[in-house]
Amino acid sequence: MTNKEFRAYAHELVDWMADYLDDIERYPVKSSVVPRETIRQLPTVPPQAGEAFEQIFRDFQNIVLPGMTHWQHPSFFAYFPANSSPPSVLAEMLTATLGAQCMSWATSPAATELEERVMDWLRAMIGLPDTFTGVIQDTASTATLSAILSAREHRTGFLINERGFSPEMRFTVYCSSETHSSIEKAVKIAGLGRTHLRKIPVDDQYALVPRALDDAIERDQRRGYTPLCVIATLGTTGSTAIDPLRDIGEICHKHRLWLHVDAAFGGSALILPEFRWMLEGIEHVNSLVFNPHKWLFTNFDCSAFFVRDVATLVQTFEILPEYLKTSESERVNNYRDWGIQLGRRFRALKLWFVIRTYGVEGLQARLREQIGMARSLAQKIQESSDFELLAPSTLSLVCFRYHPVGIDDDTRLNAINSSLMETLNSSGKLYLSHTKLSGRFALRMAIAQTNVQQRHVDNAWEQIVDTARKTPAVP
Ligand SMILES: *Cc1c(COP(=O)(O)O)cnc(C)c1O
Repeated sequence: MTNKEFRAYAHELVDWMADYLDDIERYPVKSSVVPRETIRQLPTVPPQAGEAFEQIFRDFQNIVLPGMTHWQHPSFFAYFPANSSPPSVLAEMLTATLGAQCMSWATSPAATELEERVMDWLRAMIGLPDTFTGVIQDTASTATLSAILSAREHRTGFLINERGFSPEMRFTVYCSSETHSSIEKAVKIAGLGRTHLRKIPVDDQYALVPRALDDAIERDQRRGYTPLCVIATLGTTGSTAIDPLRDIGEICHKHRLWLHVDAAFGGSALILPEFRWMLEGIEHVNSLVFNPHKWLFTNFDCSAFFVRDVATLVQTFEILPEYLKTSESERVNNYRDWGIQLGRRFRALKLWFVIRTYGVEGLQARLREQIGMARSLAQKIQESSDFELLAPSTLSLVCFRYHPVGIDDDTRLNAINSSLMETLNSSGKLYLSHTKLSGRFALRMAIAQTNVQQRHVDNAWEQIVDTARKTPAVP
């Protein structure tokens, strides 16, 4: 492709992109393709001769697009959003065009220094003390793994990095029963053993019970284990429960455990002063992660990882072969040593574009608006005779179920709500996901998409109510 052709196609694609965003509500939110439908349309062998761009783009529209779920659709209420925004997309275009590999300062000085500055901005925006330092990671899963590896190395004086595990080392890790699956994955990868992850019970708000944590740690100590690390969650994936950081922090302090905070979704709400109470007890926290790629309008992937002790993080990951040595290492950050990957994308640029375009106040206003919409929906559900809330709606997630009068058996209610969700999602008009809370099937509606407005929430609620009341109850 010549640069002249590139220019012409790029203009065409930008028009397509803007049209797509204009027309997005005409697409079914959730793709309705069946398994193998897409792959059957793709040739089993690559083309020998180059193909025309027009043909490739036609196939994108005809083969790929029908198999896509539209995460930027304002009626996307499932999971947590993976929000994008126009400034973020523009920055991604530049990042792709520069195609820089930002592993060390020398390989792209501005990318490194912009990352340092933007992470300082973010730290201040979410009210973290300036004893924390930030670095961008691809996902919260990777950041949590990095935290657990740092905890492991910190605890053993970097011995496992040197010599591997010895048989007498039996570490335990703690989190609540509502914690994200990435914690268990990290414990497996870090070589600590899945059976050494202790899932602490939660209270009726689905937050970790500190007393039970303390008991579990002491029991493990008596049985010869070495408690290593606790993961607290601000905004669990199931119901956005907030673990009590102060109590957990004091327990970690008493037993000298690493405290990592997973605020993947909920962390964005910390830009609002009225949510800073979630950070009470931060003085005992060693590391924290949150995802601007979820609820801060920045394209996936962009995960903000903050640590109190950069030296421990760097010592955990640092490798310095001859071909990576540079003269200025003393004065600059080489982010390849701040995590797992060597090669790194230039992710700071999109965050910089987003923060500058919205401004902190613009971001705050958008989040407040969404939290307000979630609160008023929760209120409606509370007042309804045949729907009920299944968890407090603290952030912008509402967990509820249909509960028609006269049916009180949870197994039956679970079946009714599961089939209600199927019907709603296959309509293409909205997309919800679910979780189980105390064994009860809960519909999850996250009101946090970049473009969601009150009318989308109203339409969704109307459709949920109509569909539920029209569907004959399962006998
Ligand atoms: C989404 C989520 C994660 C995983 O985030 P990734 O960035 O996809 O790894 C972890 N923890 C919580 C609480 C989440 O909501």
